[in-house]
Amino acid sequence: MKMVSEEMCGFLEEGAWIRKMFEKGLELKKTYGEDAVCDFSLGNPDLPAPREVAEGLRDLADKAEEPFTFGYMPNPGHPHVREAVAEYLSDEQGVSLAASDVQMTCGAAGGLNIFFRAVLDPGEEVLCPAPYFIDYGRYVGNHGGRLVPVPAKELTFELDVAAMEAAITDKTRAVLINSPNNPTGQIYSKDEIAALAAVLEEKNKGRERPIYLVADEPYRFLAFDGAEVPPLLPAYPFSVLASSFSKNLSLAGARIGYVALSPDMPGREELMSGMTFANRMLGFINAPTIGQALLTRALGRQVDISVYERRRRLMGDILKGAGYEFTMPKGAFYFFPKAPGGDDAAFVDRLAEERVLGVPGKGFGMPGYFRLAFCVGEDVIARSEEGFRKAAAK
Ligand code: PLP
Repeated sequence: MKMVSEEMCGFLEEGAWIRKMFEKGLELKKTYGEDAVCDFSLGNPDLPAPREVAEGLRDLADKAEEPFTFGYMPNPGHPHVREAVAEYLSDEQGVSLAASDVQMTCGAAGGLNIFFRAVLDPGEEVLCPAPYFIDYGRYVGNHGGRLVPVPAKELTFELDVAAMEAAITDKTRAVLINSPNNPTGQIYSKDEIAALAAVLEEKNKGRERPIYLVADEPYRFLAFDGAEVPPLLPAYPFSVLASSFSKNLSLAGARIGYVALSPDMPGREELMSGMTFANRMLGFINAPTIGQALLTRALGRQVDISVYERRRRLMGDILKGAGYEFTMPKGAFYFFPKAPGGDDAAFVDRLAEERVLGVPGKGFGMPGYFRLAFCVGEDVIARSEEGFRKAAAK
């Protein structure tokens, strides 16, 4: 008996290789022991949350017996939290945001979903540079839209603005970028963002509805060697920021994030109302109370990024020494090297034979590469050296 929709059947089939990969990883760990497997397949932040998170939790615990501590709240979030996030973002982005420009969400994922629900009509398109975060296609498809991947520049993964421009049609409703990028670690420069914004300004002329520029930025805090992540909101009036505290505070399971709109966006009150309605109708209702409470102490803090810095250097040295072709990530916690031999799935299998786990690039819309997440200890990275060498030599 079929238990799920045709569409879900398709998703499950599409995702079968990922499940198989994880099962294989589990099997390897069972056979050889956890310590004998170097698992770079998951982007799950492993650093402890800053101590202010515990302080925020204690503050909340002190109020737990008061009425409404865990009650419903306005759908866009607690007013004092929106206010605090608006202030924090005003500083980060160099624009003046009000609480009404910010909505608290169930992570960046929830934020992107409420945004797409609010703006997409059936068949409308969202462009994004490829490779891209695996779930974008679903987030857009959930709301009747279609994700249109546009390959970024080979190996460096810089934005190909001309290719983006060529891909814009009458149905284009948004361009979605992610910087620092998962899976490439690329950070888009101020000039790249400005060039993209100029294209969109031009394309908006004579349109009834604008093309939005959406930046998904949960890795903003993690930029290496002094690299800067330029602010998006001053660059384009129809810009939208979706982000979260999943990575900078290691709060991925707390599901707390936000969407912010450019204060220069005409009609942004309507868009905010649309997103608020979407938050409710999609069943999120509001962002979790607990996540919002933690921010009263932890907003502006972050995990110790020097740990990620050391891991990045070590992994870069190992991959280079083993002869892999890759661009050093400027940010986030991923490497995205070329798969020796060209077949990413076959190469990831070869790596697994050496008890090193990665993810094939086809899962990010870019076959021929593979992704390694360095949310693991330096000991694991150091131990992987031989496996990387052997797999590349095979
Ligand atoms: N966007 C990107 C690029 C991600 O890598 C992730 C999670 O790994 C998400 C969004 C979802 O993050 P959140 O936990 O904020 O929903």
